[in-house]
Amino acid sequence: MKFLKVKHIPERSCSVCKVKSAKNDLIRLVKSPDGKIFIDSAGKLPGRGAYICPDLDCLEKAKKSGVLAHALKAEINENFWLELEEFIKNFGGNKNLKIKSVLGLARKAGALLIGSEKIESESRKKILVILAEDSSEGVKKFAEKHESLSLNMTIKELSDVTGLKDTVQILGLPLNSGFAKKILEIYKHQHEEIERSNAFER
Ligand SMILES: [Zn+2]
Repeated sequence: MKFLKVKHIPERSCSVCKVKSAKNDLIRLVKSPDGKIFIDSAGKLPGRGAYICPDLDCLEKAKKSGVLAHALKAEINENFWLELEEFIKNFGGNKNLKIKSVLGLARKAGALLIGSEKIESESRKKILVILAEDSSEGVKKFAEKHESLSLNMTIKELSDVTGLKDTVQILGLPLNSGFAKKILEIYKHQHEEIERSNAFER
C-alpha cells in the first residue's frame, strides 16, 4: 500500500452561512484599531476579523441579518458593501467554492478517487468524473468513458482540493454517493443561475 502525505489545509467558517472552507477560499474582513473595516486580501492584517464566502448570496444575507457587523462589532456603511460586492465579483475561483468544499468533505471521508488509476480500479461502479480543464489529452480520453463534468477547474485547483503534493488531473466519485449527488445538485443550480442571469440581461 502506498501512503501519500496529506498537507494541512487551514479552514475557516463563513460568518454568514457557517460553511467551512479553506481559508484562502474565503474573504477576510478586518477591523482596524480605529474601528474602520477593510477587506484583508492577504488574510494577514491584525485586528478583529470575520470571514465571508465570495458569494453574492452570502453578501445579501449579511446585509439583511447584520451578522458581519455583529461579528466585527462595527458599523458597516453602504460604501463598504459596494466595495465588498465588487471584490466578490472579481474573486478568483468563487464559482467552484461550494463544489470544492464538497470535494474536500469527500476526501476526508475517503470517498474521493484521486487520479485515473484509482478511478479505473473502481470502474465496476458508475463514476462521476471531474476533469481539470488543463489535463492531458490522454486523461481527457480516459474521462470520456465516464459520466464527466467540466467545471473549469485547473490542475492546480484539483490538486489543492486533494491536499496531496502530487498534481491531480482527474477526480472521481461513485455516482450513487451522496457527494456526487450534492455536486450534481450544485452544478445544476449554478447553471440555472447562469441561465437566469442571461435572461435578465436580455
Ligand atoms: Zn457563506
